[in-house]
Amino acid sequence: MLDKLKMPLIMCVIFAVTVFAGIKVFSYLSYSELPVISLEGIKKDSYYANNLNVNINVNSGYKISSIAAFLDSKPVDLENSKEIGKKNVKLAFNLDTKELSQGKHDFNVVALDSSKHKNRNEETVNFYVDNSELKAAFLDMQYKVYQGHTIHAKIQSNKKLDNITALFLEKPFNFYPESEYSNVYECFIPLDCDLNPGEYILNAKVKDFVGNETNLSSKVDILEYNFPKQKGFVVERGKLEEEKEVSMSNKVLEDAIEKWVQDSPNKKLWSGKFELPIDVKKITTPFGEIRTTSEKGHYMHRAVDLLNFPKTVVWASQEGRVVIKDRFLLTGNTVVLDHGVGVFSIYCHLEDFADIEVGDLVKKGNKLGRLGMTGYANGYHLHWEIRVNNVAVNPMQWTQRNF
Ligand SMILES: [Zn+2]
Repeated sequence: MLDKLKMPLIMCVIFAVTVFAGIKVFSYLSYSELPVISLEGIKKDSYYANNLNVNINVNSGYKISSIAAFLDSKPVDLENSKEIGKKNVKLAFNLDTKELSQGKHDFNVVALDSSKHKNRNEETVNFYVDNSELKAAFLDMQYKVYQGHTIHAKIQSNKKLDNITALFLEKPFNFYPESEYSNVYECFIPLDCDLNPGEYILNAKVKDFVGNETNLSSKVDILEYNFPKQKGFVVERGKLEEEKEVSMSNKVLEDAIEKWVQDSPNKKLWSGKFELPIDVKKITTPFGEIRTTSEKGHYMHRAVDLLNFPKTVVWASQEGRVVIKDRFLLTGNTVVLDHGVGVFSIYCHLEDFADIEVGDLVKKGNKLGRLGMTGYANGYHLHWEIRVNNVAVNPMQWTQRNF
């Protein structure tokens, strides 16, 4: 009686075992997915100091048979190796970066499963060791700069830095590397024409990639600039009425520049001095002239007016990207170039535009248009402006020294 009951049960068990074994064998023979390796505590291209706790996670649908790790191609010992044999394995590794040289290293992990195919995967992470002390200093301990001009501040470090943030007159400014491989960082700080002369302090917080910080400061002497005065000039009433028919308000231009300054690339698109954008016969209005006109009242001319014959070529004063090419009421046909790191040059009153489009990268000397008198102008001239972080500065300083 009992045996009669047991028989089907035994048969069932045999059947189940056979099916289970079949699945196992099938899985062993056919499994083809690669183990997935992920690393915690170490990231590609990151910098590290002192001790580093690295976790190696290997996940697979099949049991893992081996995991090996290599530091600069030499095998390393891993903790919790008894985990191997499971599908999901987590191993730890303590990496003491003080035993490594400064600079670039690589960490490589190889994992294999125990299926017939011995599916194998590997992961390599390049990283940097930085156990050196952070050294940084201003190249100039004191900057002497006129009102309406630009401070070109430089900081040299002994290593590549994560960032430098400067504070001048409570406004933040970024420093950028002079070139891709340079440890000299530079910053362009515009001084408003209305800033009072005197001694100021430029502060900078320097940070490397492993969390070291140092604070620096440099004196800035703002010198009084003798801004010339002019009585004013008259633009025919009829001309402005005509301009209104064909142009946009200058508020549109100002809003657009404000937006482009935020989006300016983090690196200089130029090198060397800026060039005067026309073959100058005469500078008719110098930078900073104080004017009174019926339309604009009392204001300062924060640009230079350059003269040559009508319709002569106006070219790009430096390499940059065309961000604005349009007609505005006061500035007439206007081109704006973004030179990177918040530096812009502006060309106004053009007769017409050259074959350029917004978005084009132009080289120093590329034609932008021809000298004209569109907009608020009483004669043919080029109104040329340079702005740094949207503050108009003396463009002549940019033609005289390498920024
Ligand atoms: Zn002007």
